Formats: sequence, structure tokens, C-alpha cells
Amino acid sequence: MISSLHRPTKAKINLDAISANIRTVVEYIPSQPKVWAVVKANAYGHGAIAVAHHIEGQVDGFCVSNVDEAIELRQAGIKKSILVLGVILPEEVYLAKDYRLTLTIASLEWVSLAKTLGTNLKNLTCHIKVDSGMGRIGVRTRAETEALISELQEQGAFIEGIFTHFATADEANQQQFEEQLDFFKELVRSLDNCPSVVHASNSATSIWHADTVFNAVRLGLVIYGLNPSGRALEIPYEIEPALHLESALIHVKKVPAGAAVGYGGTYHAETDEWIGTLPIGYADGWTRDMQNFNVLVDGKFCQIIGRVSMDQATIRLPKKYPLGTKVILIGKSGDQSISATDVAEKRGTINYEVLCLISDRVPREY
Ligand SMILES: *Cc1c(COP(=O)(O)O)cnc(C)c1O
Repeated sequence: MISSLHRPTKAKINLDAISANIRTVVEYIPSQPKVWAVVKANAYGHGAIAVAHHIEGQVDGFCVSNVDEAIELRQAGIKKSILVLGVILPEEVYLAKDYRLTLTIASLEWVSLAKTLGTNLKNLTCHIKVDSGMGRIGVRTRAETEALISELQEQGAFIEGIFTHFATADEANQQQFEEQLDFFKELVRSLDNCPSVVHASNSATSIWHADTVFNAVRLGLVIYGLNPSGRALEIPYEIEPALHLESALIHVKKVPAGAAVGYGGTYHAETDEWIGTLPIGYADGWTRDMQNFNVLVDGKFCQIIGRVSMDQATIRLPKKYPLGTKVILIGKSGDQSISATDVAEKRGTINYEVLCLISDRVPREY
């Protein structure tokens, strides 16, 4: 989809903030792990190519969710290793070899299927995924892990790493985290020939369990400057959000008391009111449930009134503002700010989703 450039709606991305966030998180990890930046889903909406180019010198590699995201980076000239975190179909293994990608192998059944299909795994670089309790993908026992390692070795694959993923590292209650950690530690310890790269830490684990990273970390949300727990846990250092979402008033009018605004006529002006219209709507990822939330104009909170439509939203202004006046949807204005976490709370979701939903129609400016 083409970005709509001829509109004042844009996401401004501060790439230096991403670099600084990576430095900060890593500084607080006592060991010196390999660092992979997770740039799946277009770098959580920040633009995978721009982010990867900016930080390539700072990290050991990248993680993405699928082969297409990895190919996008290779075609943009990214040279460092790229780990595909999801499971791909054996039919696509040749792409991994062509583009020097590292694949996640999560079951014996996958290797059997590859054999049946005649997929050549020779010299494929891979990491074994262990399901230590997340319940999504991965081998669940020591026996299966051992069997998978020997199968892959027999096929000539190069097993560079082994990893797991925690389900609750961003929660105060540590019970499931501890269970998963114990399981994974014991598994790794018991393997006869353990792959050299061992990793388990996403952002939350790297922040709140910095002493338990193995020898590599996979940093996602935190590098974009947001708290993976929302507000449940405090981050013990400063990070800076890298994305600001802004638009501008493209229409300003005074409506009389009682006038209806928006689809369904759900809002009626209480008195004579100044109403501003913004060129952003649910097709931009500014979802309909943002009705009654606030944006910032001139350092002041202004309420979104009436329904958010596909391409436009309406706000109540305290006074007349000129066309072109900047409107901040995520970011700072004067002394006030609105974070992706604030938006997530209003929507009953998590900040990750808020970032990922900002659609391709919104241009990213660096
Ligand atoms: C997305 C993902 C990450 C990054 O998670 P954050 O919470 O954003 O740091 C790490 N590992 C795996 C397996 C993932 O899918």
C-alpha cells in the first residue's frame, strides 16, 4: 500500500532514541550477551529497513517473524545474521539458504515432513526452539530435543543455537517464569552437545531478569522506548519512546449547541463549540474506540468527539485555531504527553498492538 504523503498525518521516528535505548538496556545486563534487535512487523511499526540500517553496527543480528520480513532486510542490504522466529514451511527452506537466514526449528515432525518433501537441509543454519511453557511452538521434552538435534545433524544442518520464550516475564508474579527458567536451564545443562548460542530473553526478561540472560538477548519493544508491562512494573532506568504520531487541523468550524457530529450522530454539542477535523481514522490504525480519548493541541488535551471514521476524526477545541495547527496523537506537546501505553489503556489492549496497528497509509518520517 502506498503511504499518503500529501496529508499532515505522519509518524515521526527518532532513530537515535532507538540506538540510545539499546545502549541503556544492554548496559544494565551484567553479562555481555549477543544482542539481536527484533524488527518483526515492520519494526513494530517504526519501519524495519530504516531501523535496521540505523542500528546494524550496534547489534549482532536481527529477529523477524517470517521469511518475507527477512528478505526485505537482505534486499535492503542488511548483512548481519537474521533469525526467523516463526516456523516456515519446508518448501521455503531454499529461500533461507539463498538469503543466508537462520531458521527456527520447532519439532521433529517438521524435519520428517522436510524429508518426505525432499527438502535439502544441508548447511542450513538453525536454532532449536524449546517450548518451556509458552505453549506455542517448540519441543517440550529433553528426549525430543536430543532427537531433533541428531536428526538435523544427520541432515547436515548447522545447529547454531537453542532458545525459549517466556510467557510472563512482564508480570510481578514470578511463578510461571521460574518454572520455565528451571526447565530450560536443566534442559540446556543436560544436553550432550549443546548449541553454542543459548537465548531466552525478550525485552521483559532483559529488563527485569537481567541476571538470567544466557548468552544472547532478543530485544523488541524496549528498543522502541516502551514498557513491555504497560504500567505493571517499573523500568529501573530511562528509555525514550521513538515514535510520535501527529496530524493537523484541516477543517475548523463553530457549531451551535445541539449540533450533531459524526456518523450515527452520537455527539451533540453542549454549547456553541469549536470543532476541528483531523485527516486520520481507523484506516490509519486510529481505531473507532478512540472516541472520547484525547489528543494534544497547543499543549492542551482536546477530546475526540463523535465517531472516528475511516479517514477522519473530529475533536472539540477550546477556541478557534488556524488550519494547519499541529495535533499530537502520540507524543509531547507543551508540558503534556500521550504515550502508546495511554492509548492502549483506553483501548483495553497493549502498547505493542497500538504501534503495530499504525497502518502503511501513515508515512514514517525519520
Ligand atoms: C516478538 C518476540 C520477541 C520480542 O519480544 P519483546 O517483548 O518485544 O521484546 C522475542 N522473542 C520472540 C520469540 C518473539 O516472538
